[in-house]
Amino acid sequence: MTLQQAQSRVDHWIKEYGVRYFSELTNTALLMEEVGELSRHIARKYGEQSYKQTLTPQEIKQSIAGEMADVLFVLICLANQMEIDLESALVQSIDKKTRRDHQRHKHNPKLHD
Ligand SMILES: [Mg+2]
Repeated sequence: MTLQQAQSRVDHWIKEYGVRYFSELTNTALLMEEVGELSRHIARKYGEQSYKQTLTPQEIKQSIAGEMADVLFVLICLANQMEIDLESALVQSIDKKTRRDHQRHKHNPKLHD
């Protein structure tokens, strides 16, 4: 699925099941909520926090994937309602990072073992 297809699929879902988009403000709050849920898993997997119950590595991976998808879903909602082409925006972002940082990370000694 391309990002354009994902935007179209989310738009279809919203119109079919969601009635309408939440406001941009509500969706921004929901985006922060989903990022928080993702962060909670990252803190437990990579940080000093621990899960209350024992989860298998596969269950943890599935949980993280689910939260990443939740983040992406809400971000796509925001892009759709603001008429932003995410695929084009991502290409522009990568191009910008390439122009700006094409030597930066190669010369960062912290990135080399
Ligand atoms: Mg979630």
